[in-house]
Amino acid sequence: MTADLPRTASTVIVGGGIVGAATAFFLGDRGESDVVVLERATLGSGTSKGGLGGIRHQFVDELDVRLSLMATAFWREFHTFTGGTHEFEERGYLFIATTREGLAQLREPLPLYERLKVPVEMLDRADIERLVPGIRTDDLAGGRLCARDGYGDPVTALACFAAAATLEGVRFFEGTDVDALIREGDRVTGVRCGNATIACERVLIATGCWTAALAATASVAVPVWPYRRSIMESGPIPHLAATPLVIEWESGFHFRPKEGRVRFAPPNLTTEGKVEKGPAGPPASFEELTFPPLDVPPSLEPWVKERAAHRHRSFADLEIRDAWSCYYEMTPDDHPVVGRVPELAGLYIAAGFSGHGFMHVPATAQLIVEEMLDGRAATLDITDLSLERFRTGRRPFTATVL
Ligand SMILES: Cc1cc2nc3c(=O)[nH]c(=O)nc-3n(C[C@H](O)[C@H](O)[C@H](O)COP(=O)(O)OP(=O)(O)OC[C@H]3O[C@@H](n4cnc5c(N)ncnc54)[C@H](O)[C@@H]3O)c2cc1C
Repeated sequence: MTADLPRTASTVIVGGGIVGAATAFFLGDRGESDVVVLERATLGSGTSKGGLGGIRHQFVDELDVRLSLMATAFWREFHTFTGGTHEFEERGYLFIATTREGLAQLREPLPLYERLKVPVEMLDRADIERLVPGIRTDDLAGGRLCARDGYGDPVTALACFAAAATLEGVRFFEGTDVDALIREGDRVTGVRCGNATIACERVLIATGCWTAALAATASVAVPVWPYRRSIMESGPIPHLAATPLVIEWESGFHFRPKEGRVRFAPPNLTTEGKVEKGPAGPPASFEELTFPPLDVPPSLEPWVKERAAHRHRSFADLEIRDAWSCYYEMTPDDHPVVGRVPELAGLYIAAGFSGHGFMHVPATAQLIVEEMLDGRAATLDITDLSLERFRTGRRPFTATVL
């Protein structure tokens, strides 16, 4: 594959996940066709293939909600922009709380939603039963719904972005591992793949949880690391096809319908069987991480069956037909790095989306393209997503893993 690589390009995108493919599309859309995307395996074979496809506005930080608003405006018109469809459905996200404290936490961001005109409402048990017939509510304190939330299909969306970008002239190379960034003084001037090099004006690192090692080849420290999460899929349960994505606030357990089946996203379990909603903390170093195996922990299936049966009567005799694990691409504040690398001209990063890289990608990809082509992202101020925050210790976000 490397024999066919061009020697020059205006932009090299490393990583053919949803972020790389969407950015290629937005570059092509701006008339930048001399773009190559280099993917070490196959398009979408990283984290993007394993996601649940949830799309929500219900965050606690304003920038996240603004990114969601920008992204969902695009998702609604996805077909117009890319010519494809990916099962995007605005069926809502329903958070349910079993405790009064949980319910109070769900209420906290309501003023933010009101200010940003996101239609979010608090629900009582009767509302929840009407919305999801058969759900158990006797242990619930209440819930919160945004009917404009929903879900889509990450792999199909990726394929549509890549196809549209190809029509715009972007070239994709699979089976092409980028070994190193080429740095000359305070510039990145290209990439090296085995014996081949590509000289370019700019490089975007869109390598998900693998970002730290690649950035380190240009002496740039990026705190992104992998955290395994798993999904399970049921046999046919077609009567739940129109339900919202349901999330237990306290446990993090969530499920959504998918093509007549249901997909479950459990939290991780500790060796003692306790719920672990996110990693305990960042590792001591990022570049030399060995990745844990990507099997599905055996303890998860019985936990999912029990939790699901507790929550909904249709899951009483749940049959799990498929299960897989993928890596969340974590950062210390559960928010991505999106932007230029301040000290190194020509180098940009869009990685570390910590469990919500799919839903926001129409926004983050457009914004990183603005930063690349116009000098700064103008549609939305993304200064807070800069790598600099991890150097200064500034923490503009509330860390939350879902
Ligand atoms: C279980 C699970 C559930 C999720 N649910 C949701 C959800 O409901 N909603 C949501 O928005 N998000 C969700 N996510 C998160 C979302 O899937 C990710 O944030 C998103 O897919 C990240 O995309 P990416 O392109 O940054 O990374 P990836 O898809 O991992 O792509 C990076 C690519 O870079 C390639 N690569 C790495 N290093 C190199 C190199 N040196 N040279 C060439 N190629 C390289 C890799 O092979 C990979 O294909 C979930 C994730 C998981 C694991």
